[in-house]
Amino acid sequence: MAANGNITRTIGDVTITRMEEAYGPAFPADVLMPSWEPGVIADHGPDVIAQFVEPETNLALVSVHSWVVQTPQKTILVDTCNGNHKERNMEGMGGLETDWLDRLKAMGVQPEDVDAVVCTHIHLDHVGWNASLVDGEWVPTFPNATHYFNRIEYEFWNPDITDQTGLEFNANVFDDSIRPVFDRDLVELWEGNDCQVDDSMRLELSPGHTPGHNIAWLESGGERALFSGDAMHSPVQVLKPEWNSGFCIDGERSAASRRAILERAVEHDALLLPAHFSAPHAYRVEATNGGFRPVDA
Ligand SMILES: [Zn+2]
Repeated sequence: MAANGNITRTIGDVTITRMEEAYGPAFPADVLMPSWEPGVIADHGPDVIAQFVEPETNLALVSVHSWVVQTPQKTILVDTCNGNHKERNMEGMGGLETDWLDRLKAMGVQPEDVDAVVCTHIHLDHVGWNASLVDGEWVPTFPNATHYFNRIEYEFWNPDITDQTGLEFNANVFDDSIRPVFDRDLVELWEGNDCQVDDSMRLELSPGHTPGHNIAWLESGGERALFSGDAMHSPVQVLKPEWNSGFCIDGERSAASRRAILERAVEHDALLLPAHFSAPHAYRVEATNGGFRPVDA
């Protein structure tokens, strides 16, 4: 583990580094996972659950981070956190002034070096650093990057296409984090269920949390990793894959996508790299009798 808390891992010829924006006890467990019931503590043991939900406060430990993926061909960012100076409706996610970008530079990645930005979906905490405020204008933070958005997802959050009534928690996001890159021809809207970012990374749909939520498979040197975005928010959902987050738009589809992801993570012995899991943030998934369990990796 590096001094700044980042974690670097290798998958074949690919280096993956976690770039944290925020970490700590955040949502009450039953807000993050409305099906939460304390029986899960008895079932799996207090020490296990305490790694995911702070026992004294019942607050789920939540991280907000990007994954910096350096392949032999490209430098790729998977999800770009909340970003700075954004006007947001959700407490604690707007008006930020973090040193996230400075830390990215300090690890040797200059903004112009980023070749691809993959956003698993267009929620505020996954697209923020796509654009930065410069002289009162939102401009692309990564001017040479292709930004990958699934077309279903893009059209769902585009206020010119879809009525945003009921989606006010995500207000302003399209205008300050998506249009600035779209208007400068830095967007690839991918369709279908299969998009190759480079030789090692492939995107596919995993709908439910949002209509066009997607995941990214990484394969190099016979090893695999799976960036699962917000298909699940807490390792508790590996133990309880039927538990949706309170932020899932279509719970039934989200639960089906989650179970499928976990099955394939086991099948391929993939390193699971979600967007919000508590430390150590990366897990292997083991099959148990009819279910799954997260294993520190
Ligand atoms: Zn999220």
